[in-house]
Amino acid sequence: MIKLGIIGYPLKHSLSPIMHNPALKHTGIEGSYQPFETKPENLELAVKDFISRGYSGYNVTIPFKIDIIKYLDNITEEAKAAGAVNTVIISPSGKTLGDNTDVYGFMAAFDKDDFEFLTGKNAAIIGSGGAARAVGTALIKMNLAKITIFSRTFKNTAATVETLNIINHNNISIIANTIDNIDIDNVDLLINCSPVGMYPDTNKCPVEKKLIDQLNPDCIVYDLIYRPQETLLIKYARSNNLKTISGDEMLVQQGAMAFEKWTNKKAPINIMREKLLEALNNETR
Ligand code: NAP
Repeated sequence: MIKLGIIGYPLKHSLSPIMHNPALKHTGIEGSYQPFETKPENLELAVKDFISRGYSGYNVTIPFKIDIIKYLDNITEEAKAAGAVNTVIISPSGKTLGDNTDVYGFMAAFDKDDFEFLTGKNAAIIGSGGAARAVGTALIKMNLAKITIFSRTFKNTAATVETLNIINHNNISIIANTIDNIDIDNVDLLINCSPVGMYPDTNKCPVEKKLIDQLNPDCIVYDLIYRPQETLLIKYARSNNLKTISGDEMLVQQGAMAFEKWTNKKAPINIMREKLLEALNNETR
């Protein structure tokens, strides 16, 4: 009997139980995945509770992705680089390991066996928060030539660049800039890691349409937002026949990775994707 869950505050819009409970059932694993809405002042207690109540692991969401690190025994290289944990794995002896499966989820959504097609290319990231750090970590692993990060506050962007440079062993050029100076002329991969365009502000786009119209025809546009699945950014890119990736696939992939780490079984990714898309489609009706 496996016990899994998610901790955050507030939690009522989490899609993770919708993916993980059917995944457990489909894999024939007895157990459940439960939401634990936890006030920030109770975080430390909740971390201890998961251990004493025999949990195998849990997901971590807003606002605890950074604060939880100080209560964990260890964190992975990916979580260290991203400065954030979204998955905790608890060993049978009660030791906690914090991981960041967003790094893997971002990469897996490309649906490629290797990333040679991105070697030496330029990426632009919009946003400099937790998601941007996970994406930056992934891009370093994918060996791009240049990564530029744009957000409204230079201080935030510079801090993200500093963190990423700790794992930047290949000397990739990682540059901080502000969104006012956005220049995406020679970009091969444009990634939105800001909440601009997310429900209910679905009429917003983090980049002006005229800049998207100037992107090179091979540029890939990736939006981490999954509410809605087709953001204005993705719509503009598709209208120019650019290749796009939307946040729902990354969400499924990061969930599948967490499932595998907790259960040591292959995640039934088709079931997880089907349940997630069903829930997202129902929300928009
Ligand atoms: P966060 O930590 O709050 O960071 C948001 C970032 O966006 C901040 O760095 C902020 O920096 C920047 N920003 C806000 N408005 C901006 C604008 N107008 N132009 C440029 N930058 C702007 O949030 P997060 O956890 O990183 O999440 C970001 C988004 O990714 C959310 O929509 C979330 O749902 C999504 N996400 C998706 C997945 C997935 O699996 N698909 C996983 C993680 C996150 P400044 O204040 O300096 O502008």
